[in-house]
This record gives sequence, structure tokens and C-alpha cells, in this order.
Amino acid sequence: MVAFKSVEWACCHLLIFSNKIDIQKPAYAGFFYVHESNKLVGKNIVIIVLTATATEMDAKQILKRIEKAGLKPLYMPGVERIVLGALGDERLLTSLQLQANPMVESVKPILTRYKQVSREMQSHDSQIQFGNSLIGGGSFAVIAGPCAIENKDQIHKSAAIVKKHGGIGLRGGAFKPRTSPYSFQGLEEEGLKLMQQASKKYGLPSVTEVIDVNHVDMVSQYIDAFQVGARNMQNFRLLKAIGQTDKPVILKRGMSATIEELLLAAEYIYNEGNHNIIICERGIRTFERATRNTLDLGAVAYIKTKSHLPVIVDPSHGTGIRELVSPMARAAAACGADGIIVEVHYDPQVALSDGMQSLDEIDFEKLMRGLLPFVAAAGKVIA
Ligand code: PEP
Ligand code: MN
Repeated sequence: MVAFKSVEWACCHLLIFSNKIDIQKPAYAGFFYVHESNKLVGKNIVIIVLTATATEMDAKQILKRIEKAGLKPLYMPGVERIVLGALGDERLLTSLQLQANPMVESVKPILTRYKQVSREMQSHDSQIQFGNSLIGGGSFAVIAGPCAIENKDQIHKSAAIVKKHGGIGLRGGAFKPRTSPYSFQGLEEEGLKLMQQASKKYGLPSVTEVIDVNHVDMVSQYIDAFQVGARNMQNFRLLKAIGQTDKPVILKRGMSATIEELLLAAEYIYNEGNHNIIICERGIRTFERATRNTLDLGAVAYIKTKSHLPVIVDPSHGTGIRELVSPMARAAAACGADGIIVEVHYDPQVALSDGMQSLDEIDFEKLMRGLLPFVAAAGKVIA
């Protein structure tokens, strides 16, 4: 085990001093567990806080040592302190004895199983570019649109409503992962073409679900962001394929996934090089049957403390009941979410999927108006 001078001190300083720290994009790829001599070897990251008097030269020397030992060096110059990182085999990290260096104030391993998406690695909020908007870090984004793209008229009318009342993005599924094989499965590529037209016409960046690793390239030609749905949160091949693109991804929580599993799924994407991840709480399955799912807003507040990634809420799938969508959207803003993704249909009565939880124009306008004081109270502004 690595010995630590003061873990609490390091945590505190990372939070205080690393607000302006820009972490060098890790250029490595791979799992945190690798086969080596037929043994599974754990990989870890340690954060090394240098003393106030340490110079850039000192930092360079330490980084060289880290690299020479076969570890990945990370350079994170802060406002008042230089912070370094080292990633690799836990045994090598231990053998380096970095805490013995007089220029090192403290050495702290990232204790969570998820590493790069954790706040220990980056204390400031990540901001993800989606169209002209930034998601995370002080704004509250509303993404809205129908559950599924049904036809040209439907997606255009729905997009017009989203735009008119202040939504910043258009959602809509072309590949629908339906529980029953007899339910509407989506228009597939044809739907993506309709979505692209509506997105361009109304100036709304689009997000759609991708359900198959073989669709990633094709889908990316038409849309601005991927959605990984609840049923695919642990489709690791899909996560890795999306991780190799640079498009933003809305990663939805699996209906039986723990928060740690959700953040490890995000880590899969991040570890492949795509850092544009937005976490989405969409409700989990519990013993409760009155609502479609149990919207876990505690998870939102929790993830915001543990991860630097933006977190949005889906109050539509989270409740399954139209009347509950607005109250839970307001609750999402109040508990610190960075936005919502909500189902809006120009006429929910004729929707081919999820009409029960979809908002019409009047409801959506009310939702937007009702959000304002809650977003302001949370210290954010509507994106
Ligand atoms: C959706 O957003 O259309 C959807 C299917 O959501 P989820 O994956 O959360 O069920
Ligand atoms: Mn839906």
C-alpha cells in the first residue's frame, strides 16, 4: 500500500486549488484490469500534490520518473499548486515512493472504482458542447421531443413546439428498444433523415438512441448526440464504440443499475477518449407500481458530488405519468440537475409510443414557465 501524508489535506487542496486545472487528456486506452503473466493486475490513478514552492522543473523531473517506471504521467497545473497524476499498475505506483520526494506534499490514490469521471480526478464541473449550448457548469438545459420519430409532420410539429418554448435540443427515437416485439420499433434510418431535416429547420441539435454497435457510424451521420438507453447501459461493446467517437452521449441509467455501475459505464466511454458524457437519471425499477419507475433524485445529488460529469433527469420515463412530469422537472432543477430530457408530442393522443407521459404544447409551455424560479434558486440559468 502507498503511505499517505494526509489524504484529507490533499482532497481539500484539490478542491480549492484545482478549479482552474485543466487535466491533460489521457492518451492511453484500455481497461483498468489487464492480463499480465496470467494474473489480473489492478490499475489505479494517484494524484500527487506538489508543495507550494515546487517549480515546473521539479514537476517535470517527477513526471519523467513516473514515465520511466512505465506509468502514464498526467500534468495538471493549478492556480496555486502543481498537481500531477500517475496511472498504471498498482505495484509500480507503490514502488515509486513518491511521498518521499521533498517537493511532494501528498500522494492520494483515487479510491473510487470509477477514476477519470470522478471528482477526485477533476474537481470542476465538465461542460459538454451540444449544438450552441453548453451542458453542465451553471446552466440548465431542456432537451425535448417525441418518444419516437413517427413521420415528417409529427417530428416537424413537435420540433416547432420545442423551439418556440425554449428547448435547446431535439430528442426522438429511430430505433426503439421496445419491451414487446409487437410494439412500434421505429422508422430506423428513414426516421434519422426526418430528424436531421427537423433539426436543421428549427436550429435544434438532435439526440437519438443507438442500440447496436453496428449502427454507430450510420447514426452519427445524421445526429448531433447519441443516447445510450437504459436497456443498453451495460452493453460494453456499444459503450466502447461510442467512446471512440467524439459526439456527446447521453448515458441513461439502467433500470436495475446502481450508481457505481452507472459511473463505471461512463468510465468505459471516457476511457476510450470520448469525454463528452452526460449522465441521465431516468428512474429505476422498485417494488412501487403506482409510477412507471421510481425517479431517484437522490442519485442526482449524489452523482454531482462524486463526478464532474453533467447530470440530467428524464421525468417522462421516470414517472410515466403526464401530470407528474412538470413537478419532477422542477424537483430535478431544485436538486442540482444540469437539465432535463422530456417527451413532447404535438398530439400525445395519437403518439405511437409513450403518449401517456408525453406533453402537448400547452403542458410544455407550462413546464418551461414553472421551471424558472427553481432553476434560479439552484443558482443556474436556463441554457
Ligand atoms: C427513450 O428515451 O426513448 C427511452 C427508451 O428511454 P429509456 O432507455 O430510459 O427507457
Ligand atoms: Mn419513450
